[in-house]
Amino acid sequence: MKRPQTINELKESGYQPQTVKAELRANLIERMQRGERLFSGIIGYDHTVLPEIENAILSCHDIILLGERGQAKTRIMRSLTALLDDALPVIAGCEINDNPLHPLCKHCHQQVAERQGDTRIAWIPREMRFSEKLATPDVTIADLIGDIDPVKIAEGRYLSDELAIHYGLVPRTNRGIFAINELPDLHEKIQVGLFNLLEERDVQIRGYRVALPLDIIIIATANPEDYTSRGRIITPLKDRFGAQIRTHYPQSLEDEIRIVRQESTPFAAGGFRLLLPRFMEEIVAEISRLARSRPDINHYSGISVRMSIHNRENLISNAFRRSIRLREAEVVPRISDLAHLTSSMKGKIEWDFADEAGESEKINLLVRDAAALVFKKSFPREPFADFLKAFATGEGIEVSEADASSAYLARISVYPQLAEKAALLAEGSSPALLASAAEFILEGLAVSGKIKKEVRETGAAYSSKP
Ligand SMILES: [Zn+2]
Repeated sequence: MKRPQTINELKESGYQPQTVKAELRANLIERMQRGERLFSGIIGYDHTVLPEIENAILSCHDIILLGERGQAKTRIMRSLTALLDDALPVIAGCEINDNPLHPLCKHCHQQVAERQGDTRIAWIPREMRFSEKLATPDVTIADLIGDIDPVKIAEGRYLSDELAIHYGLVPRTNRGIFAINELPDLHEKIQVGLFNLLEERDVQIRGYRVALPLDIIIIATANPEDYTSRGRIITPLKDRFGAQIRTHYPQSLEDEIRIVRQESTPFAAGGFRLLLPRFMEEIVAEISRLARSRPDINHYSGISVRMSIHNRENLISNAFRRSIRLREAEVVPRISDLAHLTSSMKGKIEWDFADEAGESEKINLLVRDAAALVFKKSFPREPFADFLKAFATGEGIEVSEADASSAYLARISVYPQLAEKAALLAEGSSPALLASAAEFILEGLAVSGKIKKEVRETGAAYSSKP
């Protein structure tokens, strides 16, 4: 079906304009009636954040999302475009997406006066109706709202003539979704300008008052501490947000793992087979979860799920490096690969007191504690009595991220119970999986104090306690 191309055709089509909030609301209702999910790919918010967002949209509210970094706030903002119509009719060439039946800008008024029903219209797709701005202290009124265009003044326009305005990002998002990240970082003066634009529907630019009755939904994000601290947000702007919604980190280990799986960069490893054992996946997720509860970490900005994602990617890459070097077809991360996670964790954790050396030490402890947690869960009854007995008379086992899986197998085979439990855990007989599982068991027994661990350059030596 061909879309109307002029104002007359649009009128004949029976088009009924509505506000952007009404449009989001109508499309949400339809989606709910079809039994569809609000957003795809957002995990762990089904009973907390998503119902609040649905309520806000049904109430036609502007929304502020409060949360620490890495809680899918930006993703939620961007996903809202899915609730817009496929395309929106605007007067062709208009800078502020004017409604063909009720134009705002003088340029459009002039066009309609000249061409009337023959005025051309354009259809803009939903992705074009979303703008996003990161608030920083140097964002200006000109960026967000607009400025007087000196060229137009030179052409002889009056300053108060709105034809002299060069529109900023907000007017250019008219009839769409305006997203602003870290709202409290916006200078107070700009917050006032934004508030006037939304509430009074006019704005002062360089002392000139310009009427701009825009139609916009605002969705903003902020760190909870910044947002609630006095003076960071002007009160009237705060009042304007009908919905203040708190985001959070994944509440379960399972959710954290699902998000990490979804968001990790897929691994192109032509000819190699990548196997990430479940226990290694759990360790990666537990590292972040533990960090979120540590008292020696500053929780102002939080521990992003991105740390789990980057850790997983790094872990796999280190195993991949080994497989390439040793010409092993299987890529299976091991405990000794975890030492390389410091580079994906530094900078993502704010320790209360740590110099650089202290930071690495603290990261190592965190990783060790995560491995201990997962080990306890994997073997709640620690069924290793026979192994420990045999181990007490043996020479110990060395592990290294540099060693081939076959070298591991030779060392493990001396201890039948270790080999047996590793095979159960590995759920298969692949040498690389067995090596990884055996090292995990050794590490677990060491962190629970059953055997001794001596850290070596690329791995460790496990031996029985004297
Ligand atoms: Zn216009």
